[in-house]
Amino acid sequence: MILKKYIKSSIKNIYINNKIKNRVAIDNSNPRFININNTSYLNFSSNDYLGLSHDKNIINSFIKGIKYYGLSSCSSTHITGYSRSHKLLENELSKWLGYESAVLFSSGFSANQSVITTLFNKNDQILVDKLSHASIIEAAYKSKAKFNRFLHNNLYNLRKIYNKKYNKTLIVTEGIFSMDGDSAPLTDIYKLSKELGSLLLVDDAHGIGIIGDKGRGSCYKANILPDILIITFGKAFGIGGAAVLSSINIREFLLQFSKKIIYSTAMPSAQAYAILQSLKFIKKGDHLRQKLNKNIKYFKLGIKNSSFKLLKSNSAIQPIIIGKNHNTLHLSNYLKSNKLWIKAIRPPTVPPGTSRLRITINSMHKRKDLDYLLDKLFEYRYV
Ligand SMILES: *Cc1c(COP(=O)(O)O)cnc(C)c1O
Repeated sequence: MILKKYIKSSIKNIYINNKIKNRVAIDNSNPRFININNTSYLNFSSNDYLGLSHDKNIINSFIKGIKYYGLSSCSSTHITGYSRSHKLLENELSKWLGYESAVLFSSGFSANQSVITTLFNKNDQILVDKLSHASIIEAAYKSKAKFNRFLHNNLYNLRKIYNKKYNKTLIVTEGIFSMDGDSAPLTDIYKLSKELGSLLLVDDAHGIGIIGDKGRGSCYKANILPDILIITFGKAFGIGGAAVLSSINIREFLLQFSKKIIYSTAMPSAQAYAILQSLKFIKKGDHLRQKLNKNIKYFKLGIKNSSFKLLKSNSAIQPIIIGKNHNTLHLSNYLKSNKLWIKAIRPPTVPPGTSRLRITINSMHKRKDLDYLLDKLFEYRYV
């Protein structure tokens, strides 16, 4: 009974504050459209920035991988779950990004959890940008280390909260912030981390494949090699999974001590095989990146003269800040009634009072899709 009461009151609270999150079962989707109950919506909520999730070549590689390896890895990498495709992918990624080594994870969430909770203990401190992804914040919070947050992209504040009494210090930031779409001052933060003798972790989930020469990401563009780089394959790569890039030492430590590696079934080998194919497309995907950037510029130009509050983002993530949860849901529902799929993002995912529409643009959107979205946004009146 006590549990039932607890659940009831927690959920009631969520309803009262317009924070309820709904899952919607979709029929299927592609980079442009999402189909639900035989209705087709223009999709401006997906992270499939280059449209690779539906690339025929990559799909065929996945199928070929399944035929060769079977569906599952059937055990963790330390038993029999580590294949030549995993190894080749780790090698290719480290070569591509200029690191000594890489290790694969089933998701970006588990990669962040693993690195942050295994490498740092009670004599250490972890300093995290306030707007970092939940997988980072939660890992730092759960780790035994002292956890502190610095104001978004604010290096004065970072320097201020740094406490030299700790053994090791880890500074964490992101290449492109997932809810704001802006980027971290990576060159300066790297310099500061060196000056303070800290380690730097950059999560580039939204930058890899998109930013920098041949899509090598935000760090490559900023000409830095952070001690630890996290990349994920569920966004621009169009598949799923993640990798941690680091020195051989750090990788060896993770392989020996990370429970998420040792006690979890390895990413299916076929998936690693498909990611290898996706990596080839990312490397030669300048035309896709050009198309994406054209679309982003077009949208930004179109929305500039509206009364909507925008953030300083040049990335595919273009949030419109509304403020109140109720008003954000109202706009999101209005767009939905006009066959546009854009989810309202509310606290605790974003800070209180900054509820927003998180619009994501991809390379497969057509000019007319963007025009339609802009038209509907300009037509919108809150009643
Ligand atoms: C999406 C995301 C993750 C989580 O990656 P998954 O592979 O989806 O678990 C981690 N960090 C950031 C910044 C992200 O945007």
